[in-house]
Amino acid sequence: MNLVFLGAPGAGKGTQAERLTAEKKLAYISTGQILREAIGAASPLGNQAKSYMDAGKLVPDDLVIALVEEFLTKNVANGGFLLDGFPRNLEQAGALDASLKKLGKSLDKVVYFDVNEEIVVRRLSGRRTCKGCGKNWHVEFSPPPANMKCDLCGGQIVQRKDDQAETIRNRLVVYREQTAALAGYYEEKELLVRVDASAEVEEVFRRLLKALAC
Ligand code: AMP
Repeated sequence: MNLVFLGAPGAGKGTQAERLTAEKKLAYISTGQILREAIGAASPLGNQAKSYMDAGKLVPDDLVIALVEEFLTKNVANGGFLLDGFPRNLEQAGALDASLKKLGKSLDKVVYFDVNEEIVVRRLSGRRTCKGCGKNWHVEFSPPPANMKCDLCGGQIVQRKDDQAETIRNRLVVYREQTAALAGYYEEKELLVRVDASAEVEEVFRRLLKALAC
């Protein structure tokens, strides 16, 4: 199964991806997570991406396209994959089509996580994230450990800079202006499946498995 997860920030793509990849053994890439790790390591990629991410903007296409191409080249031979947070605009979608064609592969489904903005803002503003491995908690729905240390890797649990109110607003504008159009793009290709992602995590996961018919 070769999949893309599409949806607004805070729609729950990362949370559902964690479950699905564990169950279905898919190779997984979250461009956002790789960029955060690059920033943490102060690598050249991180230094180039930081100001865009802090402002809630998309980082330049060439940077993320290169990341995904490298991931696909390394992983397509080993079974299915899941792309989370990529593509995020039509240029990236076109680049993905070209890369997959070159590798003799194609997408099986694009899952669109459908959720309204009120829920998204509540999820994002309460989200807390491990700086080490990217695991997420939520101050209301699944509170982090009191010592703010990750139970998986021991990393520090923090609020992402881009989960602060002003940046959330910018990310939603970027989503509406650039990413939302991809639903139509993949609908035309008859790849889009919609999942109502407004429910709690377990219920959304059940809906996801049903939508994927697996
Ligand atoms: P995410 O963790 O997917 O919400 O991504 C966090 C941030 O990383 C985004 O707001 C962008 O600044 C950047 N980012 C992640 N994926 C992409 C992408 N495909 N294209 C451009 N920027 C991205």
